[in-house]
Amino acid sequence: RAKAAGRNSVEFFDSRMQTLAKQRSQLAQDLHQAIRQQQFHLLYQPIVKEQKLCGVEALIRWQHPVQGFISPGVFIPFAEQSGLIIPIGDWVLKQACTQLVQWQNDQHMRQLSCSVNISALQFAQDNFVEKVMQCMLETGVNPERLKLELTEGMLIDDVETIRAKMGKLQTLGVTFSLDDFGTGYSSLSYLHRFPLSQLKIDQQFVRNLDTNPHNKAITRAILALAASLELEVVAEGVETQAELTQLKALGCELFQGFLFSKPLSPEAIVGLEPQSLPPRKD
Ligand code: C2E
Ligand code: MG
Ligand code: MG
Ligand code: MG
Repeated sequence: RAKAAGRNSVEFFDSRMQTLAKQRSQLAQDLHQAIRQQQFHLLYQPIVKEQKLCGVEALIRWQHPVQGFISPGVFIPFAEQSGLIIPIGDWVLKQACTQLVQWQNDQHMRQLSCSVNISALQFAQDNFVEKVMQCMLETGVNPERLKLELTEGMLIDDVETIRAKMGKLQTLGVTFSLDDFGTGYSSLSYLHRFPLSQLKIDQQFVRNLDTNPHNKAITRAILALAASLELEVVAEGVETQAELTQLKALGCELFQGFLFSKPLSPEAIVGLEPQSLPPRKD
């Protein structure tokens, strides 16, 4: 009996694997098509300082023709594994820079910076720096308005190559932010080696900051570290007034989260004039 059950579960496992493999190759095909047919668009989530809009983060959205909205949390990891993140990432950068140029021409939006998520594979390309420079030339974007978000895992190997890449772009005015800080290989000793200007505290540490002493301790430590390295800090995923109050008490000055705004269309970002973004009261 045990043997039979074992065989059944192997067969079950096989068919499940087949289904998964099918789904994955379907997703790969769909992503290829999405790139060709421009099924992606970007939304922009406000980053707030002293109740004013000071920047936005570009976040990709995929409207699948059959399945509807598919979250980047689902398709971005897959695009990374399959290599499709390269054309997708190229598109995101171009789109975000094109949008930034439009905002640059608007008196009220001129100071706005735009953060763009860069994936590991994208950053690891030998010609990454050239691609970014090419994109800046083609769009005419002010490099000082462009911020690239990297993650901790990307700063591990080959420190010299990474530093050289960042350095070249920094010379042109581009700035770097370290996303999801605290979730990766937080060997703190490496931070000062790279030309970073900002850390983003991952939302898992912001969550229930007011009542969770563990998160409060971590956030306090991140803010102290950032202060000593003269890095800006953005708290991600701020959802409640209580979290905001606690963050301010700990000395954090930049905020991003549903308490202020969800990710918005470019038109809605312009509609935020006169650039005041108090926390929502509901
Ligand atoms: P991320 O870069 O850490 O982006 C922040 C995520 O938190 C976004 O999810 C945003 O919508 C969400 N968020 C913002 N405020 C709140 C809040 O108050 N509460 C909660 N619960 N969530 C909040 P999204 O747009 O689903 O993106 C998920 C992840 O997908 C991003 O995390 C990023 O790693 C990746 N991603 C998104 N767009 C791109 C892209 O253009 N390129 C690459 N390589 N990755 C991207
Ligand atoms: Mg990000
Ligand atoms: Mg993040
Ligand atoms: Mg995240």
